[in-house]
Amino acid sequence: MARRCVVIGSGLGGLSCALVLAMNGYKVTVLEQGNQAGGCLQCFTRKGVKFETGMHFVGSAAEGEVLYKLLKYLGIESDIELQRLDPDGYEIISINGDRFPYASGVGPFIERMSSYFPSEKDNLANYWQCVKKVSKASSLNSFVSSGYAVDTEYQTRSIDEVISSIIKDPLLRDVLVGSLPLYTAERGRTPFSRHAFIMDFYNRSAFRIVGGSDCIANAIIRRIDSFGGEVLTKKRAVKIVCDSAKATGVLAEDGSLYEADVVISAIHPVRTLELVESKLIRPAFRERISNIRNTPAVFSLYLHFKKGRIPYMNHNFYSYKNCSPWDCHKYQPGEWPASYLYMHSCHTADPKFAECGTVLAFMSIEELARWSDTTIGRRGDEYMEFKAQKATALLHALESDFPGITSCIENYYTSTPLTYRDYTGTVDGSIYGVVQDITAGPAGRVPHKTKIPNLLLSGQNINSHGIMGVLVGTIVTCSELLSPEKIYKQMEEASR
Ligand SMILES: Cc1cc2nc3c(=O)[nH]c(=O)nc-3n(C[C@H](O)[C@H](O)[C@H](O)COP(=O)(O)OP(=O)(O)OC[C@H]3O[C@@H](n4cnc5c(N)ncnc54)[C@H](O)[C@@H]3O)c2cc1C
Repeated sequence: MARRCVVIGSGLGGLSCALVLAMNGYKVTVLEQGNQAGGCLQCFTRKGVKFETGMHFVGSAAEGEVLYKLLKYLGIESDIELQRLDPDGYEIISINGDRFPYASGVGPFIERMSSYFPSEKDNLANYWQCVKKVSKASSLNSFVSSGYAVDTEYQTRSIDEVISSIIKDPLLRDVLVGSLPLYTAERGRTPFSRHAFIMDFYNRSAFRIVGGSDCIANAIIRRIDSFGGEVLTKKRAVKIVCDSAKATGVLAEDGSLYEADVVISAIHPVRTLELVESKLIRPAFRERISNIRNTPAVFSLYLHFKKGRIPYMNHNFYSYKNCSPWDCHKYQPGEWPASYLYMHSCHTADPKFAECGTVLAFMSIEELARWSDTTIGRRGDEYMEFKAQKATALLHALESDFPGITSCIENYYTSTPLTYRDYTGTVDGSIYGVVQDITAGPAGRVPHKTKIPNLLLSGQNINSHGIMGVLVGTIVTCSELLSPEKIYKQMEEASR
């Protein structure tokens, strides 16, 4: 009889684990608390316009590249239409009004960037050499290249330390971490490997997902379905049922019990531990996991543009005013927003005009303390007023970089860290889950295995966030059940 696996959480982590196991003969059931599956891949529609809430763009997805191979392994590569971002500048970093593009490919990146910083040309080449070396050896890439080598040096040296040792100009140092909202780093704490991987991943090729990020979730769900698995929404897991030796199933809030030979929890690890009463999980482990800090949260502004008014912007735009990318999440309330990230969504292939865009700005959950006990849709008028004030401040900042833009907005919508907290179960609305912190050592890592032998963890907290980080985490978790050799062989076969 097929082994039964119950997966908690239908974000990319939960869905992809379920699919890999379903492809390998498991009978899988995914339990999702929300009305919609997908977690951070979810979209919402207002007045006929669709907005992405989490994932906005992906990298290394050109044929033969690492993400493409993973999507092919999952059998969904042809279900996802991608629109390439401008190779001459897929990211634009604006610091106090001066704009610096990231060009695609190492050679073009160095050429374009050194036109602003001519004396740093050789240093930029050294920087890229370092990025390439690290990202090639990182666990994220090695699964789909040649072996399992891990570069420990750059997992223990911080981003700022490594960049300062290579680049002399302080402005260029800031420009190179200008896309920092993609990985929320901290000075002296975040390993250089995290920066290197993201820089390399998007520099190879960067794409938006035509039609929205929920296309990825929907494609995976169709595949799970084709293998006889099921993804159930409105099924909040409230308990991982255990006997003295192992997990035996998962209890949902509505009273239904899903028996399991294996349970995979792909939600925040603190939330997972709240579901387990077993003595096999020691208090020291609970404490260690609850002490791991989380990445900051964001306020999101979703813009619906008037028809034919805003040309489609084929890059992402990061703005910093009187602040370094490093410090943008540490703001004084009166100075908000010191920075923001602005992107357009891609509704059709090759759009001429944008239908909608998203603006993200870091926000501390402490600003929302007085509503922390409220739930979605029931937070009251003062909360609505707070959101309106923040939207006005963010629109003001956007207008100063893009004069006239506010007159082209038909409608806008907003979400706060509380929205993310309540939709995805992430602690304090944290954008990418737990931090990676070199000063915390092994105590700062979330393992994919637990002392309950058939309870595994997956999702963005066990390896890294983002499409690649989560999918590699899926392979790590599923390898525990299927063996890494088997999965690696299957990936090789799929990529032929
Ligand atoms: C604003 C934002 C922008 C981003 N942009 C990008 C980007 O451009 N590119 C990129 O690659 N990545 C991006 N990311 C990161 C990426 O989206 C995430 O790392 C990834 O999608 C996380 O997947 P996950 O499965 O680990 O968790 P999640 O997507 O958070 O999924 C967890 C799921 O578990 C469910 N759940 C929680 N508790 C329970 C329970 N008790 N019972 C049942 N279900 C439960 C939640 O409802 C949720 O659906 C972004 C993230 C955010 C927030």
